[in-house]
Amino acid sequence: MFESVFDDGSIAMRPTVIEVDLDALRDNVSRLRDHVGNTRIMATVKANAYGHGLVRTAKELLRFGVDELGVAFLEEGIALRRAGITAPILVLGGIIGNQIAHFLEYDLQITASSVFKLRQIDETAAAMGKRAQVQLKIDTGMGRIGIRHENAAQLFDAFQDARHCDLRGVFSHFASSHDPDKRFTRLQLDRFLAALEYFPRHGLPTPTRHIANSAAVLQHPDAMLDMVRPGIMLYGVYPGPEVERSIRIRPVLSMKTRVVYFKVVLAGASIGYDHTWTAGHDTRVVTLPVGYGDGYARSLSNRGAVLINGRRYPIVGRISMDQCMVDIGQDSAYTGDEAVLIGGQGEERISVEELAEHCDTIPYEILTMLNTRVPRKYVGGAP
Ligand SMILES: *Cc1c(COP(=O)(O)O)cnc(C)c1O
Repeated sequence: MFESVFDDGSIAMRPTVIEVDLDALRDNVSRLRDHVGNTRIMATVKANAYGHGLVRTAKELLRFGVDELGVAFLEEGIALRRAGITAPILVLGGIIGNQIAHFLEYDLQITASSVFKLRQIDETAAAMGKRAQVQLKIDTGMGRIGIRHENAAQLFDAFQDARHCDLRGVFSHFASSHDPDKRFTRLQLDRFLAALEYFPRHGLPTPTRHIANSAAVLQHPDAMLDMVRPGIMLYGVYPGPEVERSIRIRPVLSMKTRVVYFKVVLAGASIGYDHTWTAGHDTRVVTLPVGYGDGYARSLSNRGAVLINGRRYPIVGRISMDQCMVDIGQDSAYTGDEAVLIGGQGEERISVEELAEHCDTIPYEILTMLNTRVPRKYVGGAP
């Protein structure tokens, strides 16, 4: 199969790789564990584990001590099960009726976000003679999926009638826990806890409660409850520029390539599509075999920088699908020299936060854009 070429060590592929530092991943999990104590950790590994590679990253996270996994979609959960992972897996996203049978077949926890969906789940489980593992989703102000918090009791009542479902948790999601203004997050937490009073009121055991994403873990310790659901912080990236850095983490992912071409560019010559950059004086330009087709955003054209020989140099001209150009001035660089697009080299570092700023987006998007054409290489992490 064509895909397997990318895993074939005998082929001298272009030298662009995403390197995943498992020592950093382990340290981030340990720091988080120190912070949350006995609170369970559900590691969020949706979107290819934020670009780090779904299956391998999930396995390493479990080895480093997280308790459960959260994904966005059914197929991500199935991929983890087919890879032999037996830990609890919650599919956080909304479901379509014809997916339910697959959840049961693969022992994946289903998000029931309305009374209607819960009934569909219960009927499917009954028909298959299986028990569904269900988590109930309450909308406390995100406005995405989930029953509105004022109506949560309707969903809890419906669960009492669901004969083929086991309750594995109740959860909600914050809309702005990264905001220095903490009021809306506190309101969401209050709404969530108020909805959960249903259980003691009815003499029922309170299920596992969880609401905290990375930003809430970092700046709302009272929101940790029974389980936390961090994503981005596990990968060593803070969820926003102003979020309290109450846990020290370091970046896990780097992206590297090597120079494939060197040339002298004379004053007045232009570089790349649409000639958006013209040399003001004679200079030297190298070409890198990486472009927006790898998820290295085109909006970094004439804005981004890369590291070569420990120095920072600007991207010049438009980034193409598979290549981009870098002005190294009067310095020298040779074919085969390492170029770092994300990560450190010598004393210098290019962070996903920096790229996000250039692209007018958030670090999450920079990470998840990095696509599967680029091989992932896992380093460190020895037991
Ligand atoms: C993505 C996601 C998370 C993790 O968010 P981070 O900000 O990366 O920590 C947690 N819960 C839900 C429902 C999510 O969609």
